[in-house]
Amino acid sequence: MKTTYIKVDPASPDEAALREAAECIKKGGLVAFPTETVYGLGADSFNESAVKKIYIAKGRPSDNPLISHIAHIDDALKLAEYVPEDAKKLMEAYWGGPLTIILKRRGDVPMIVSAGLDTVSIRMPSHSVANMLIRLSGTPIAAPSANLSGSPSPTTFEHCKADMDGRVDMIIDGGECSIGVESTVVDMTGEVPVILRPGAVTLDDIISVCGKGMFGGEYADAPKCPGMKYVHYSPDAEVFAVGDMESFKMPRDENAAIIAYDKYVNAAKGCRFYSAGCSDSEYAARLFYLLRKADEDGIKTVYAQLPENKGMGTAIRNRLLKSAGGRVI
Ligand code: AMP
Ligand code: MG
Repeated sequence: MKTTYIKVDPASPDEAALREAAECIKKGGLVAFPTETVYGLGADSFNESAVKKIYIAKGRPSDNPLISHIAHIDDALKLAEYVPEDAKKLMEAYWGGPLTIILKRRGDVPMIVSAGLDTVSIRMPSHSVANMLIRLSGTPIAAPSANLSGSPSPTTFEHCKADMDGRVDMIIDGGECSIGVESTVVDMTGEVPVILRPGAVTLDDIISVCGKGMFGGEYADAPKCPGMKYVHYSPDAEVFAVGDMESFKMPRDENAAIIAYDKYVNAAKGCRFYSAGCSDSEYAARLFYLLRKADEDGIKTVYAQLPENKGMGTAIRNRLLKSAGGRVI
């Protein structure tokens, strides 16, 4: 498949250019596009054969459901049977933004979108390019992260292209993704909001709106987020999470790299230093980018600092521990 590219300035998206991409979605094509979290690989949620192509392009297991993206809060009712009061409050507080809400699926939403589940996951991005694309397409867009299954999610056009060139009809270059890790996934089908995947919207954020909330998914007995069981976010390099940077002995190995906060830059001697910046949000924005850069630089082993388990740090830890296969040193 020949992939075409269009470059769009997120500060003032060119509607004519995005109309072309929207036409592609309407015709059942695959379009990769930027969002504030990571690049997404999109197809019309209501076109079953188009959605099937997403799974093939990514090599994604067919029991891992997709998130549908909308441009207006009201469009949640195109996908969900109903919107409970607390879910509505979350939508008003955090949409457009990095929050995916799981609700009861409407019967006319193709089963393949939800990988056979009776629920559906919905997000309204804040990214100007994503929003305009969805609006012009006139349909919810099912879109997982635009990487080959198992690899770190792409946060730049170049990384999206590296995985998706020749596999999709079109890629929209909208620059870097500002958040850098995927959306928070919250299950709103029960009495209490349950976070199945941590992200930039935190448990405290959800409790502040709903008065209640908890972590679930892989932390619970029966995982409800099917994707959680698969290999994730793995570069070719071997990844280790570093629990305590203060006592960590830096390797003298030119094929090794450290990902850590700037204050450790002088401690890294004899190996490569990749800056995680000075804050959890800077680290989140760079994590997937740096894991991919390690492969580009020929690095064989990556040692990445585990941030504290709070706020955005929880999301970084979740992704990092998966890419390290749980190995903490
Ligand atoms: P990705 O599309 O790569 O950002 O991954 C989406 C995540 O949301 C995966 O971990 C899915 O398993 C999860 N997900 C999507 N839809 C549902 C759903 N209906 N119920 C539970 N988890 C879901
Ligand atoms: Mg993904």
